[in-house]
Amino acid sequence: MTFTIIPDKGSQRSQYDCIVIGAGIAGICAALELQRRGASVALVDAGDPGGGASFGNAGIVVNTNLRPVFAGMTPVGFVQMLRNPASPLNVRWSRFPTMAPWFLRMLSNAGPDKVARITRALGSLCQPGAGLYDELDRLAGIGDLVEAKGNVALNRSEAERDAHWDKLVQIREFGVPMEKVGRADLARLVPSVSADYTHGIYSPAFRHTLDPQALIGRLFAKFREQGGLFLRQPVTSIVSQAGRASGVRTLGGIVEADKVVVAAGTFSARLARDMGEAVPHQAVGGYHVMLRNPGVALERPLLPIDFRFAITPMKDAIRLAGIYEFGGEGQPFRHDLIDTMLAHIGKVLPGIRTSDTSVWRGFRSYLPDGLPIIDASRITKGLYYLFGFSSSGMINGPAAGRALGALVSGSEPSVDLEPFSIRRFG
Ligand SMILES: Cc1cc2nc3c(=O)[nH]c(=O)nc-3n(C[C@H](O)[C@H](O)[C@H](O)COP(=O)(O)OP(=O)(O)OC[C@H]3O[C@@H](n4cnc5c(N)ncnc54)[C@H](O)[C@@H]3O)c2cc1C
Repeated sequence: MTFTIIPDKGSQRSQYDCIVIGAGIAGICAALELQRRGASVALVDAGDPGGGASFGNAGIVVNTNLRPVFAGMTPVGFVQMLRNPASPLNVRWSRFPTMAPWFLRMLSNAGPDKVARITRALGSLCQPGAGLYDELDRLAGIGDLVEAKGNVALNRSEAERDAHWDKLVQIREFGVPMEKVGRADLARLVPSVSADYTHGIYSPAFRHTLDPQALIGRLFAKFREQGGLFLRQPVTSIVSQAGRASGVRTLGGIVEADKVVVAAGTFSARLARDMGEAVPHQAVGGYHVMLRNPGVALERPLLPIDFRFAITPMKDAIRLAGIYEFGGEGQPFRHDLIDTMLAHIGKVLPGIRTSDTSVWRGFRSYLPDGLPIIDASRITKGLYYLFGFSSSGMINGPAAGRALGALVSGSEPSVDLEPFSIRRFG
């Protein structure tokens, strides 16, 4: 099937029911849901499907840790973490002054009441996650790319483990299975882990993917097989007429549709701002390093709590992923941040080989409460927003895409979308 672009100022009737901008996990899940509801859908992406943040993440697709990264932080503690080279939080100090108001806004959500509200909202997306991944497996055959082996958070003492356990109380109240483990359990669950880790928390409900991009690729192939069209073009703006979205403008011309979904990751906030709906958004860098031929066996993902980064066994490699780099967009790649993860991995998995590596940086789309926007535009009819997935887009993309699909088709979403409203920023 060929994709035709209407020349600028074209006036043909809409070619598609819906255009989805962005072929990351969020955009593809929304596109599949819209197809399921009978819509003709075009996906438009500046690059290959799954080439954004969805490419390089830690690969956790079903998760039960719903605490936002800033939970419990004070401004002083936050700045101390930014200053500490051993902390996963980093900032480009030259940009700190202009980012300070955003940081304060983020930290205004760090108290227990707001964290509880955010956790509840994330829970409503996370909870159907396992079932939705099962459905995606039945639809697109992704089962061989998803492992259900749980996850182990690693601690160096009983006191550290118990302090971490206490922070997870609200998550356990959701009915999420989790168990305290000691050294003997760790030796069974993660035989290759250093004996310095004496305690931990095992979360059996976690699932991870062996290859995030291959997973997106399967979903994308299904989308195409079902008649979806793909246009590899950067979108420069949303086109609207008389207060109603009518398509998107790309470098090649206008593509028309009755409805437009903005799921362009970190670029989404710019499109929203151009449509009169500015939101307080940051692109927060994250890094990964793939360790090929690591020389140690690892069956399930790990999270060392003394230096938080994810250690995920993937196809042919172990992936170390994490780091929050504020103000890094448009700035050079920081190899020193990779070095900090490499320096630490030997303490977690002694004897691991770190000679055959590849590295990556991508940007998470972040709003100051860590929640995504899943909403209809308040200004332009037929325009929808689906972005701001922070550190959990792989986990929450399927539920968010499903809810958005319901919204676009005028049905009642099964999730309460109030916490994800674009209006919450005023
Ligand atoms: C280091 C790291 C580890 C992470 N680990 C996890 C994890 O374990 N589990 C988890 O759930 N989440 C994790 N995340 C977060 C997760 O990767 C993201 O939340 C998720 O990938 C966001 O998906 P998305 O579809 O919203 O955005 P993206 O995947 O970024 O997709 C956006 C798409 O929009 C396209 N686009 C952008 N601008 C335009 C334009 N102008 N025109 C057309 N197309 C455009 C891009 O090319 C891209 O393909 C991690 C992130 C990082 C950085």
